[in-house]
Amino acid sequence: MAKTLVVANWKMNPGTMREAHKLFEATRKAADTSSGSFVVVAPPSIYLREISRSYRGKKIAFASQDAHHAEGGAHTGRISLQQAKDAGVSYAIVGHSETRASGKSDDDTRKEVAAALALRLTPILCVGELSRDASGDHLAVVREQLTTGLADVPVGKLSKVLIAYEPVWAIGGETTMSPREMHEMSIFIRKVVVDRYSPVGHSMKVLYGGSVSEKNTLPMLEDGDVDGLLVGHVSIDAARFAALLSSIANT
Ligand code: PGA
Repeated sequence: MAKTLVVANWKMNPGTMREAHKLFEATRKAADTSSGSFVVVAPPSIYLREISRSYRGKKIAFASQDAHHAEGGAHTGRISLQQAKDAGVSYAIVGHSETRASGKSDDDTRKEVAAALALRLTPILCVGELSRDASGDHLAVVREQLTTGLADVPVGKLSKVLIAYEPVWAIGGETTMSPREMHEMSIFIRKVVVDRYSPVGHSMKVLYGGSVSEKNTLPMLEDGDVDGLLVGHVSIDAARFAALLSSIANT
């Protein structure tokens, strides 16, 4: 059975390198004892190289949280995908809602997904609406984010892109959207890719993110039609993250 991909997005945490090592050590132990999952840790970029160098195992890989597509240039405060790769990442989170909120556009995600693939990194393209109402407008938002984000991906590489659906209204709390609704969204996402790009879309890997916890992981994996999860605040709570991974081991 394929392993569940669990992305631990540490965001701008923890506050010191020392705490980062401690959190990573706990994450490493939890990943080692979880048979059903493969963990991708996305630490703040300032911790990336030291943490990735400290790890010798095969159960964890690393991701950038937000890296620029350009090779270099006048981008104060940013890091490039190339630099992130040099610091040890093999995955790249692209278009997280918190980066979209501070100005990232669909067009930026298009460039970043393509640049990540060119560097042989696995892009994790985040999509998701800010809010929902009965009109169904959120589907148009997700369709646009997907079609633009994937526009420069050669058909032969489509299956290398992971899609993380993160409804912004579900981020940062304790309750996910319902697994049944996620199931519908997974079908919608794959259909958008199939209709626009290629039948390869049928086998596109879809992750869910938004208040994933040790309590709701199992139902989401059982009924959400997802291949993995993107975990924010619970990933920086070592005990809760370990419980989350062990709930997967029990599937
Ligand atoms: P959350 O964050 O798990 O804290 O909701 C998810 C994310 O923003 O990636």
